[in-house]
Amino acid sequence: MNERHIGAPGQVKEVTSLANPLIKDIKALALKKFRDQQNAFMAEGLKLVIDALDLGWQIKTLVFAKAGRGNPAVEKVAARTVAAGGTVLEVSEKVLVAITRRDNPQMVVGVFSQRYLALKDVRADNGDVWVALDRVRDPGNLGTVIRTVDAVGAKGIILVGDTTDPFSVETVRATMGSIFAVPVARTTTEAFLAWRGGFSGLVAGTHLKGAVDYRSVDFSRGPVLLMMGNEQQGLPETLAASCDRLLRIPQAGRADSLNLAVATGIMLFEIRRGALKLEPIVDLQ
Ligand code: SAM
Repeated sequence: MNERHIGAPGQVKEVTSLANPLIKDIKALALKKFRDQQNAFMAEGLKLVIDALDLGWQIKTLVFAKAGRGNPAVEKVAARTVAAGGTVLEVSEKVLVAITRRDNPQMVVGVFSQRYLALKDVRADNGDVWVALDRVRDPGNLGTVIRTVDAVGAKGIILVGDTTDPFSVETVRATMGSIFAVPVARTTTEAFLAWRGGFSGLVAGTHLKGAVDYRSVDFSRGPVLLMMGNEQQGLPETLAASCDRLLRIPQAGRADSLNLAVATGIMLFEIRRGALKLEPIVDLQ
């Protein structure tokens, strides 16, 4: 492993060997066990890494491809990483492919500390929308919901029960960067029900047996907690009973139900309907 100094005040380690212990640790982040052991996760792409730093996430390691050498944006991120106490690695294409398990990897990968919001710190004022996901299983669904929560300006997500990992590579990819913008809390069903007792707004559950059309509800008063069920089983009785309303999205055709992320998107755009306005498109020419 060579060390050299770049124009930025940062110190860069050049790594070409897959046997390098730093690279082994990053590769291990593909498994939840090691993500939790290291309290870390990986995000791919220069823009994502810059956004994460801007939003105050703690970077542990910045990895960039040799091709990034001399790129001012990469050098700036490298300097920010060093200033934040992180490590900067310049790696060969082979190493980047191994880390990301992709044939055409992004030029930059960041390893960040995981961050959860404590359930006690979930605050809901008038107009705020939170989403509770019961035992979400699919990383693509969770990532898409996080991205949609971000897009509609909802406040965050509460993961209830045994769920897929919000910091897995698949979930982070599906969030398209929104993992850094959306607070995520996680809790057991029991702790969630205790917390829900103190929630003063509308708790809107979605259920295939819901009697109420989701379009008939006035969501404009007070905070809203939208509760979505597990992909296979839907909301269990305990959680369904804790909802103020059980809502249904009408369907035609033969499908039994909607995909969880699609149903969450439909609900969120309805709940936030009054708050969302089209911004004029700025013509840059
Ligand atoms: N077999 C499951 C069931 O019986 O509920 C299907 C679950 S569905 C794939 C996952 C979640 O998406 C549901 O628990 C519910 O929260 C939401 N969902 C899907 N389609 C819906 C609909 N038409 N109306 C209301 N919620 C729906």
